[in-house]
Amino acid sequence: MAYVIGDDCVACGTCIDECPVGAISEGEKYVINADACTECGTCADVCPSGAISLG
Ligand code: SF4
Ligand code: SF4
Repeated sequence: MAYVIGDDCVACGTCIDECPVGAISEGEKYVINADACTECGTCADVCPSGAISLG
């Protein structure tokens, strides 16, 4: 299990700065590396659009 970024993402970039393990990257879409994510939930807490959930 890992957190995943859904279609509600507005590409604000907030989650990238807040992830303690650098699991989030910006490409064509923002994505979470499931192998690196420790399921801390920080990104979901700070996302202004509620786009991040436990997948
Ligand atoms: S749940 Fe935590 S470790 Fe996983 S992507 Fe979000 S901030 Fe990073
Ligand atoms: S904080 Fe939420 S809206 Fe902002 S880039 Fe991350 S997933 Fe997208």
